[in-house]
Amino acid sequence: MKKQTDVLIVGGGFGGVAAAQKLTQNGVDVTLIDRKNYFEVTFATLRNVADPKLLGNTLRKRYSDFIQGEFIQANIESMNNKTAKLANGDSIDFKQAIIATGSRYPSLPLAKSSSALDYAERNQEMLDEHQKLQSAKSVLLIGGGLVGVEFAGEIASAFPDKEITLAHASDALLDGSQPKARRKALEQLTAKGVTVKFNRRFAKDGEHYRCSISGETIQPDIAYVCVGMVPNTEFLKAELPSILNDRGLIKVDSNMKIEGYENLYSLGDCSTLDDRKHGYLAAVQGAHLADALLKSAAGKTTKPYGNAPVMVVTTTGTDTGVAALPFFGLVSTLGFIVNLKKDMGVKNIFKLLGIEPDAFA
Ligand SMILES: Cc1cc2nc3c(=O)[nH]c(=O)nc-3n(C[C@H](O)[C@H](O)[C@H](O)COP(=O)(O)OP(=O)(O)OC[C@H]3O[C@@H](n4cnc5c(N)ncnc54)[C@H](O)[C@@H]3O)c2cc1C
Repeated sequence: MKKQTDVLIVGGGFGGVAAAQKLTQNGVDVTLIDRKNYFEVTFATLRNVADPKLLGNTLRKRYSDFIQGEFIQANIESMNNKTAKLANGDSIDFKQAIIATGSRYPSLPLAKSSSALDYAERNQEMLDEHQKLQSAKSVLLIGGGLVGVEFAGEIASAFPDKEITLAHASDALLDGSQPKARRKALEQLTAKGVTVKFNRRFAKDGEHYRCSISGETIQPDIAYVCVGMVPNTEFLKAELPSILNDRGLIKVDSNMKIEGYENLYSLGDCSTLDDRKHGYLAAVQGAHLADALLKSAAGKTTKPYGNAPVMVVTTTGTDTGVAALPFFGLVSTLGFIVNLKKDMGVKNIFKLLGIEPDAFA
């Protein structure tokens, strides 16, 4: 089957949904495509695994319950600047396309599922992962970046009696953050009973995990490898290989326009727009692009995207965290600031996107 749309949005993450919401509210003919049938607040998935009763299913919502334009659940297999081909054999012609296919964590698939594509399946996947974690006495987390630090904190809050080890390759957590944030995250996790080991590179070796630097071995009941984000852009290699850089990111200018094309745009984790890869920023970018497309259709001038200031709160459990403030490199651990992410930011993100969260279940 072949269909047509004015604006095709590929990927219903933070960026794609923000653009879809604003364009459809302004009467634009939009088709949103995602391989899942639900939107999910990624930041909250680790809490969902550690303690499902805290957020329930409130971090995800079916697209069909809020998208006003057309939503199609499908995997896009390839596209050029006129047509996208879906895995089911259908194709869609478009006038403009926004590519917002984000990223995945191959070492920790539970963070962003590529297998549980149905809302109910994903809720069950979280419960199954929780069961596995619950039955483990000892836990090894490999990688002390944002994901490893947050997951260690969530597990320590939910299961204070578990033996939790967080191993990191460098000599401080949260590489790239301010020294105070790196120090405080360590203090907070240590206070929760997490053993943090620096300068360690563990890899599976039979029944054990062996460190290639120190030679020590650990045999945890369960291990999570929390390293490496990969952009979801492989589907572009067949027909649009020149738009990808050597890291697989889509090359865009400051108007989010893809290099060499007048009608293709990209944003969020899959694009070169902003080195800071955050869902909140992807949502800001999606709204900015929608605004620019509306203005340009009305013959008005548009502004380039200006690297919005952002406060990054890294949680170290349900009651602590470190906040990197968007000015003067300040870092805070004050409760009233860190508590802005008390529910892992679920309510704020839904509000920003103009979506009513589902009732707790
Ligand atoms: C554990 C964890 C904690 C995090 N904490 C924070 C935080 O506190 N604050 C913050 O702002 N950010 C945080 N992030 C980062 C944030 O999740 C990402 O920056 C964000 O998801 C990027 O949004 P996006 O819209 O670019 O893409 P994504 O959210 O990755 O969405 C992309 C969408 O595209 C779909 N898709 C991909 N390929 C195809 C295809 N070929 N066909 C059809 N559909 C496709 C996917 O199914 C997905 O729905 C965290 C991430 C993780 C994993």
